[in-house]
Amino acid sequence: MILPGAMLGLLGGGQLGRMFTMAAQTMGYRVSVLDPAADSPAGNIAEHHLCADYLDERALHELGSTCAAITTEFENISSIALEYLAQRCVVSPHAKSVSIAQNRILEKQFLASNGFAVAPFAVIRQGDDLAAEIYKPLCPGILKVSQLGYDGKGQVRMSDLAELASAFEKLQQVPCVLEQLLPLACEISVILARGLDGQVALYPVIENQHEQGILDMSVVPARVSDQVKQQACYIASKLAHTLNYHGVLCVEFFLLQDGQLLINEIAPRPHNSGHFSIDACVTSQFEQQVRALCSLPLGSTTLKVPAAVMVNLLGDLWLTGEPAWNEVLRIPSAKLHLYGKRTARPGRKMGHFTVLGDTVEQALTEALAIKAVLSKAC
Ligand code: ADP
Ligand code: MG
Repeated sequence: MILPGAMLGLLGGGQLGRMFTMAAQTMGYRVSVLDPAADSPAGNIAEHHLCADYLDERALHELGSTCAAITTEFENISSIALEYLAQRCVVSPHAKSVSIAQNRILEKQFLASNGFAVAPFAVIRQGDDLAAEIYKPLCPGILKVSQLGYDGKGQVRMSDLAELASAFEKLQQVPCVLEQLLPLACEISVILARGLDGQVALYPVIENQHEQGILDMSVVPARVSDQVKQQACYIASKLAHTLNYHGVLCVEFFLLQDGQLLINEIAPRPHNSGHFSIDACVTSQFEQQVRALCSLPLGSTTLKVPAAVMVNLLGDLWLTGEPAWNEVLRIPSAKLHLYGKRTARPGRKMGHFTVLGDTVEQALTEALAIKAVLSKAC
């Protein structure tokens, strides 16, 4: 067990890292952040900020020699860096899990070869015959870059095979996955933590609504049948065991109109859809990340209220100046979170708010009302 007082290392200084840092500091740990940006949400509040590239040897050496354990807040960390650090201290999640989650090709192949249901897909690489008949059943489809895509970026939707070549061109002909466009009933996610001892703690199933490929709102508990919830939890736990996963893991699912449940993608870290847990659960996903990293017993994931709705605050809201925060603050059951980012840009995640309620309907009505007032002002 790594006890409070120890220094924890964090790769990445974004909002997920900031909320990890806050949870760690609440429990008496200190945090050292590696992030190349001089001004970052986590770097600004951590005890130490190593302002260097993620592959910078001196910075990695310093992190590895001053921290008792190291985790990451994003998946695009080289496995070389994680393996280097793992020779010096505890690293969670393992390099292998991160390298699968950061590459859509490896991720899809790993899932499919281990018997997890995913959308029908094909790998597309430079030099492939893009007019080949085998791609026809995958149209209409979505072409997605294999690496570094997020929030719907690095994706092109195509209605038929004739568009594949131009879509591939648009994505600079980097390795891609072509995925069939599926008729979704809804999207759900499962967040869990798994300790080194194999113990798993699952959060309530989350229902997610996206706008233009970016998460807009998460509703808890998800409005799906108990059977779907159980199936999603079973699949997520099985995946965590298959990966011999250590840390917090998010599994995103597609629930199809015919009832099939497919894994969309996984994130080897706390997830935007789990932010409700800060205000609504006994243990937040960030405290759980600290607990798993330090081999402490996992905390309770039980909801403290019957329902919660989380709404993302994107930079678009800043178009005509600072949003009217009083519209959130005057609602007693709403909690405002801002990430301390100095520049707002359209699509940039600046913060979120969570509304707690006695029922999903009540929390949703209040959340939608706040959302409407905030966006009307800009
Ligand atoms: P990102 O890494 O940007 O989150 P995703 O693969 O999760 O990429 O895609 C973003 C969103 O686009 C999904 O949450 C979903 O709403 C939609 N989407 C992605 N793939 C499909 C698909 N095969 N069929 C239908 N909708 C999809
Ligand atoms: Mg996604």
